[in-house]
Amino acid sequence: MSFLKSLWSSIRDLFGFRKNTSYVRKHLNDANIKSSIYMSFIVLVIETWMILRRFYLVKYIPNNWNLYDDKFELIFKYTGQYILFFLCAATVFIFSISYIKKLFNKGMFITEIIVGSLCVLWFFLLFFEIGYKNITPGNFYFVSTILIYSIMPILGILIISHAFYQKKNLKNHNILANAIIVCFSLICLLFGMSVGYLDYTKAYMITCFLTMILFVACLLIWKPYISILMLCGIFVVFYLMLRNFDGKAPFDQLNGNEVNYITFFISLTMVTISIYQQRIAEAIKDAKLEHDAIYDNTLDIHNLKYFVDTISKHLKKDSNFLNDKIVLFTNISNFRIINAQKGFDAGNKFIEEFASNILETFSDEIVARQADDHFVVLASLSDFETKINILKELVDKSANGLFVHLKVGGYKFNKISSIHRAIDKARYACGKIKRDYDKTFLEYDKAMDDFVNKRQYIVNNLDLAIENNWIQAYYQPVVWTESGELCGAEALARWIDPVYGFLSPADFIPLLEETRLIHKLDKCIIEYVCKKMREAIDNNRVIVPVSLNFSRLDFELMDVCDVLEEYVNKYNINKDYLHIEITESALSENFELLSKSIDRIKKSGYTVWLDDFGSGYSSLNVLKDYEFNVIKIDMKFLSNFEENSKSKDIIETIIELSNKLGMKTLTEGVETLKQAEYLKQIGCGRLQGYLFGKPFKLEDFEKKIENKEFIVSKEIL
Ligand code: C2E
Ligand code: CA
Ligand code: CA
Repeated sequence: MSFLKSLWSSIRDLFGFRKNTSYVRKHLNDANIKSSIYMSFIVLVIETWMILRRFYLVKYIPNNWNLYDDKFELIFKYTGQYILFFLCAATVFIFSISYIKKLFNKGMFITEIIVGSLCVLWFFLLFFEIGYKNITPGNFYFVSTILIYSIMPILGILIISHAFYQKKNLKNHNILANAIIVCFSLICLLFGMSVGYLDYTKAYMITCFLTMILFVACLLIWKPYISILMLCGIFVVFYLMLRNFDGKAPFDQLNGNEVNYITFFISLTMVTISIYQQRIAEAIKDAKLEHDAIYDNTLDIHNLKYFVDTISKHLKKDSNFLNDKIVLFTNISNFRIINAQKGFDAGNKFIEEFASNILETFSDEIVARQADDHFVVLASLSDFETKINILKELVDKSANGLFVHLKVGGYKFNKISSIHRAIDKARYACGKIKRDYDKTFLEYDKAMDDFVNKRQYIVNNLDLAIENNWIQAYYQPVVWTESGELCGAEALARWIDPVYGFLSPADFIPLLEETRLIHKLDKCIIEYVCKKMREAIDNNRVIVPVSLNFSRLDFELMDVCDVLEEYVNKYNINKDYLHIEITESALSENFELLSKSIDRIKKSGYTVWLDDFGSGYSSLNVLKDYEFNVIKIDMKFLSNFEENSKSKDIIETIIELSNKLGMKTLTEGVETLKQAEYLKQIGCGRLQGYLFGKPFKLEDFEKKIENKEFIVSKEIL
């Protein structure tokens, strides 16, 4: 059964019974029209030559000239047929050029109308002037001539239709193209038959017949079954005509020539089938490549390349194309939940469903998948909000009770900005409402634009800022709880920018972490601190130990220990005067790497402090796994110190625990005397906070030491 099935399938392929995809059809069609350009051009050249030759014969051979009274009739009689072929070829040539080159303007419109009308006119002239007068009805020559004549006005009408069709900008002219090719082929075949027959009757070779058949069957691509039918039909008719002329019955014995004739016919049929198969294989390959280039890898929806290219194409034609449009960027918030709870297949199905919903909802817009659950749409401003609501309902339905929601960001083009930028902006707006349960849509606005520009500026100018010393450390005092004397300072980065003015770490630290550039800044602060310390020592000023902040990413992006060593050696700094602060949240990830680095830093002689203790999820684990010299208790414990008695208990317990583990303590964010008193009472070692001083510019900090506003302690460890 399966053998029969595959046999049937092969037969269908072999004879071309299978319906081709629209892409393949278009590919074959375009190839045919391209061939038509060459074919019609050759005919044009031959016919021009023939017309000139005929004209010469008529005009310069006196006998001919004198024979006719009506000179027009004479010329007409001698060149009429050639002009017919010339006009047919001209029709096909002009049509093919306009089709392939997508060249259609007023000039082409007028040319098509003129050529089309000439075809129709010439038909009438030919038919009534000489056609019916000079040809004896009944013989083959008569039939083929009548057929050729009648195809001519059809060609004329077809090209006139094409002219109007194009003018109205109707795109699909596949049928017209096919009809024109079929008409042209018929004319060629009939011409070949009639001339071939005439030659034969005059005892010449039938070369013209064979040439025309080769011309039509091999230069154009036909479905195999059409080739077979066409070639069979033509060969049988021609064969019968020849036999009839020779006075032989159809099945009389064949002579050598006739055998050759049949062999030629069989070979030609096979060649046409093979040409078709080759072209089909090519077209399928091309179609796949073309499809892959503009479609998503997994879903039946266009990809971002298509989105951008299509918009660019529209923009080239019409620079106002984007004026009434908005770019939308979608996200399914919490999408991971589906994968986690229902498995990957369910997740994939959800995305598939979403893709088909978005295609349906925005059916007349440009839609594409960016990646994962992110899709982009170029929507019309007039109704995009209604459509977003429809889509939201559909998503809620697919979610089937799961806590996933549609989020859409939008960006309206106000000037012709890059499409990629527009998508980024829509994505940014979309990200802003990620966690807003009740918001589905947010449009990118001026405030976001300013914010994004600032971030872009920071990333772009980090190197320049470092080079030009726009980045400096500010120093915040750290004091002994007992004496209130200064025992150190924390170096906190500040960016004093010529455009944006004073930038605080909140503006740039998270951003530099996101962009994996943070190590550049930290390196710069380490050098700043070491360099300034060296200057102070050289100028006999009093110095205090400085704590340096490190981001988790520093440990991935550079060798922290090597960098420290480099600057400590370069500026000849005593390692006791540098403390390394590592924030608690950094320690929850990449345990291997961090514990190795911390060990090395400690072995090299630095003290390591645990920053923001109590702010993360794994505080106690961190204490179990690492050993720190000092624990900095996060300032959030002090924020509601007055109202919440539990805060007090927690701080007290942390201090007790640290003492037990042999680590010293520091509490950050001390703002009131009351807090300081309490911390003293429970035995916290060091204090830091606005009560003792904000982060100061280095000169101000040093001035305060000089003025004895800060009394520097003799003890530093
Ligand atoms: P952090 O290390 O916890 O630094 C303490 C932050 O609390 C500083 O903010 C400081 O100005 C602020 N602060 C100090 N005392 C008080 C107080 O009494 N009350 C209140 N409300 N705040 C106080 P800043 O300078 O804005 O730094 C913020 C964060 O940025 C720092 O938190 C640190 O994590 C990071 N950071 C600062 N400089 C650097 C740096 O050079 N490198 C790295 N990687 N991170 C840095
Ligand atoms: Ca810190
Ligand atoms: Ca801190």
